[in-house]
Amino acid sequence: MSILLDLERLSVRYNRLTALSDVSLEARAGEVTTVIGPNGAGKTSLVNAVMGLIPSRGRVTFPLWPKAALSTGARVRARICLVPETRDLFGPMTVLDNLRLGAFVARSERGFDMEARLAEVARLFPRLDERRHQQAQTLSGGERQMLALGRALMLRPRFLMLDEPSLGLAPLVVAEIFRVIEQLKRDGVAILLIEQNARAALRVADHAYVLEGGEVQLQGSAATVMADARVVGAYLGMG
Ligand code: ATP
Repeated sequence: MSILLDLERLSVRYNRLTALSDVSLEARAGEVTTVIGPNGAGKTSLVNAVMGLIPSRGRVTFPLWPKAALSTGARVRARICLVPETRDLFGPMTVLDNLRLGAFVARSERGFDMEARLAEVARLFPRLDERRHQQAQTLSGGERQMLALGRALMLRPRFLMLDEPSLGLAPLVVAEIFRVIEQLKRDGVAILLIEQNARAALRVADHAYVLEGGEVQLQGSAATVMADARVVGAYLGMG
């Protein structure tokens, strides 16, 4: 499978603090790549650097879309999307308007059909559809996550980065979010999934990286990582 994202020795520093140190990583077409690790491991810094939102050292390349490396805007136009951990919705706007904004950069493409895209998202998230005229800031935590994900899907992403989509959500909602991730994978969307919920992430992933203290401690197929004694001890021990 072709490589969509190629990171070579990516490093991120905040003043004197090194958040990421020489991280090399690949994400491939049609696969779910997961990055698991504890709080403060550098996971958010990683995706923010991949999106070009914060300065970094090293190389971030998108071999199939070389121009995407130029700027954050160029990445979005290449349909590389990040659903941030903070979800970043437009609170006073309705669900529908938040979704429409997700497709903003695609609006002048030939054959662009807003209604068809909205219908696709409604099919994945019937609960959002029921609440389409509700203000985003009045949604529950789970519904907000669905909206953040739905808004990204309006762009029909070719590469989707999800930063801790299950964070702070009740188990039933987590299951719902992972059901959608599995559906997207079946539809062929390449995903980089950042998670603290290692068990759920490894179950859906093809390839996994364990990030600790800003460094990759372990990587391999999800099955190999899941069976690693250190991962079992630190991340999968209970339950
Ligand atoms: P979490 O799971 O808690 O979100 P994370 O793995 O996503 O953690 P990061 O958010 O990337 O980790 O943070 C990595 C380190 O960098 C942390 O020690 C954090 O305090 C620090 N850090 C993050 N953003 C900044 C910033 N803007 N200024 C200074 N330090 C920062």
